[in-house]
Amino acid sequence: MLITSGSKAKSPPIDLRSDTVTRPSPPMRAAMSAAEVGDDVYGDDATVNRLQNVAAERFGFADALFFPTGTQSNLAALMTHCDRGDEYLVGQEAHTYKYEGGGAAVLGSIQPQPLENDSDGSIALDRIAYAIKPADIHFARTRLLALENTIGGRVLPLAYQSAATQLARTHHLGTHLDGARLFNAIIKLNVNETSAVAGFDSVSLCLSKGLGAPAGSLLLGSRDFVDKARRWRKVLGGGLRQAGILAAAGLYALEHNVQRLAEDHANANTLADGLTRLGLHVEPPQTNMVYVVIPSERAGALQQHLIARNILASISPRTRLVTHLDLSAAKISLTLKAFKEFFDVKHSNLAPPI
Ligand SMILES: *Cc1c(COP(=O)(O)O)cnc(C)c1O
Repeated sequence: MLITSGSKAKSPPIDLRSDTVTRPSPPMRAAMSAAEVGDDVYGDDATVNRLQNVAAERFGFADALFFPTGTQSNLAALMTHCDRGDEYLVGQEAHTYKYEGGGAAVLGSIQPQPLENDSDGSIALDRIAYAIKPADIHFARTRLLALENTIGGRVLPLAYQSAATQLARTHHLGTHLDGARLFNAIIKLNVNETSAVAGFDSVSLCLSKGLGAPAGSLLLGSRDFVDKARRWRKVLGGGLRQAGILAAAGLYALEHNVQRLAEDHANANTLADGLTRLGLHVEPPQTNMVYVVIPSERAGALQQHLIARNILASISPRTRLVTHLDLSAAKISLTLKAFKEFFDVKHSNLAPPI
């Protein structure tokens, strides 16, 4: 069920549904308002160009391309790597496979070969190797390995990324990283940007998740790769005009909102600890996502209890709570208080869980 906040919320809710709900801050809006702009389809938008240059350099790529969404950035990347009738290897849980409406197949004529993700989010190397098809007219041509970091809030170790991309290269596959939340992994691992993307031919980054921009993604690659992707972006309807207004938010986010992701991770730990103390089963968070088991018979009542306290969360048997820059430590405390009222028998006239 998609919980919506409603249109006439008084004070902004404590919104744990996703880090996409963050709103541009006053200084980010000021940067947007002051942005120098031009027609980006002509390559004339100075702010878009600056964002692309800054991102490419920061990650050690030759070029970068601004997209309205991460879905479109990933799809353009898949279509740049793969031709009609090719296939890409991808995790069952991966966003490009599971959460993008089957776009690779629908719009790219690219066959996904989904592979099981292990509990840490990785795909076992032998499973990858086994799925690579030999050259034979019976098979789709295996062209690409796509990984995701972070995946469901979990950080892929860089040693794993290195081994997996090396394996792909040995088999002449391209490599793509869906790094929608790669900055969370970078902060968690305390590594620099270039080492986080080592081995990948292309990387997609979201500016509109934990970084707090209202929209925008970046696709990183070689000059040739980005030239081809730019063509697909136009085909997919993503050629924007005075996009510098959005790019300015992205530049602001890259400068001001990366290091602070550590606060979101700390808040996720606080939230997880508090929920554990209530006797709930919580998966220890690695970044900004807390997964907690909510008995399904109590899910509806909990949802209402939280809504009554201006707290939004998508309650399910495996509830995902996401911390972000619009959630202060004080709001995390209020959230824990609300959960405690609900689950603590002493404060509740409802039956205790289990
Ligand atoms: C959000 C997300 C995307 C897509 O981004 P949109 O801007 O919502 O289209 C891609 N991959 C992952 C892992 C994401 O979390």
